[in-house]
Parts: sequence; structure tokens; C-alpha cells
Amino acid sequence: MNEPLIKIEHLQKKYQDNLVLKDINGEVQPSEVIALIGPSGSGKSTLLRCINQLEKPTSGAVYFQDKDLTQATAQDLSQLGEEIGMVFQSFNLFPNMTVLENIKLAPMRVKQMNEQDAETTAMQYLTRVGLAEKAAAYPDSLSGGQKQRVAIARALAMHPQVMLFDEPTSALDPEMVGEVLAVIKELANEKMTMVIVTHEMNFARKVADQIWFMADGVIQEKNTPDELFNHPQEAKTQDFIQKVL
Ligand code: ADP
Ligand code: MG
Repeated sequence: MNEPLIKIEHLQKKYQDNLVLKDINGEVQPSEVIALIGPSGSGKSTLLRCINQLEKPTSGAVYFQDKDLTQATAQDLSQLGEEIGMVFQSFNLFPNMTVLENIKLAPMRVKQMNEQDAETTAMQYLTRVGLAEKAAAYPDSLSGGQKQRVAIARALAMHPQVMLFDEPTSALDPEMVGEVLAVIKELANEKMTMVIVTHEMNFARKVADQIWFMADGVIQEKNTPDELFNHPQEAKTQDFIQKVL
């Protein structure tokens, strides 16, 4: 087996007295796709935010390659931040910028890419998500599915080594879910390493190498989609699977 790209060790996150993540452990191998599933409020978003250090873990470690992000300096983190792309449920595009400007911004500001190169890169990724013709449009004029595809292109333009998705289709009308999942599926085919929080169980089954089932701040069970969906071991997993399938 390769060295894991991400390794999570005894991760805890507390908000005041609320121990949201109790003891999270896990490894993500290069090119692996993890689907993180579980009931609302179980800590899935908190876990993603602790992986990319949007939240400071209370204790434990998150290794990216062999660097413990929880101990990294601000400068290390800003470099490592470029390696971990994130896509949110609510898109988080800048409304006052065009699609192209949204995508160019971080490569220019963070990577000091010149404008011409940033534009070339941005157009490349826009084309990949099927939206080259929307380069000059403003986010408000796009459908939810288009906005999310732009958000994915924006994250990819930083050439991250890992992509984290937090319920990327939950805010979409049903007819737009497929176009976004298709883009993510294509990334999986291209061997992008990903951790995807999702309620789309059929998608998780098709795309994920491993499913992590989270409940009560703990990963209750990790397994291949077939095993986890067909032969859940823990009572909590069985209960959840029964409700969502
Ligand atoms: P999930 O994504 O699985 O629905 P979350 O990670 O969003 O769960 O939330 C897990 C728990 O952590 C919830 O009880 C939520 O209220 C709490 N929580 C999340 N973020 C914060 C925060 N910034 N401050 C206080 N509590 C929070
Ligand atoms: Mg969440």
C-alpha cells in the first residue's frame, strides 16, 4: 500500500461543552474516493473543516502527506491550503465577479500566476465542466447546477491534490443533481483523491472506494460500498441504511 495522502489520528473537536468529534481515525490513500455518510448533525461538515483546517481541532492530528496540519505554521498552512480544494453546498461564488474572475482570483492571488496563464487555466477547467460559454456571466445568472460546476472548476484551477466536497448537490433542484455528480464522477475516473459528504447513496455506491459511516461524532463503520450497504455490521449503520435506501 502507498503512503496515505491524509491520515487522521484521534481527532477531537469540541464547541464549548459539545464534543462534536469524539475520536476520529482514518486514512485516505492517493486516488481514493471516500464517501462520508451519516445523519444530520453527526459531525460530517466539522470533520471536513478540521481536515482542511478551516476549524482548529481540539486535539489529535491530521497529517497531509507527512505533515501534521494541526501543528503547522500559518505559512505552512497557506501553502498546504492550496493542496486541498473544497466545494461547499452553497457554492460560495463571489457575486460581484464574473465566472472567469471567480476562477482566476486564487491562482493569481495565492499562486502569483500571471493574468494570461490564470485565464488559460480557468478556461481549461470551465471547458471541462462544460461551461466555457459562461465565462463572462455573473453567478446570479446561472442555475444552481451551473454555479456548483463553476465552484468545482474554481477549486480545480488551484491544482489541489485532494478535493473535499460538503454535500455538493444538497442545495440543487433535483434536475440539476446529475450534471454535478457527473463532473465528480469524471474526477474519480481521473483518479482525483476525494472525500465527499453526500446523501446520494446510489452515487456513493458507484463512485466511492470506501464508505465511512459517521454517527454521534464517531466513524462507526468503514467499508467498501458493497459490504457497507449490503452487510452493515453495526446496529447504527443498519438503522441508517434502512432509512436511506
Ligand atoms: P453534519 O455536517 O453531519 O450535519 P455538523 O458537523 O454540521 O454535522 O455539526 C455537528 C454538530 O456540531 C452539531 O451539533 C452542530 O450544531 C455543531 N456545530 C457545528 N459547527 C459549529 C460551530 N461553529 N459552533 C458551535 N457548534 C457547531
Ligand atoms: Mg454538514
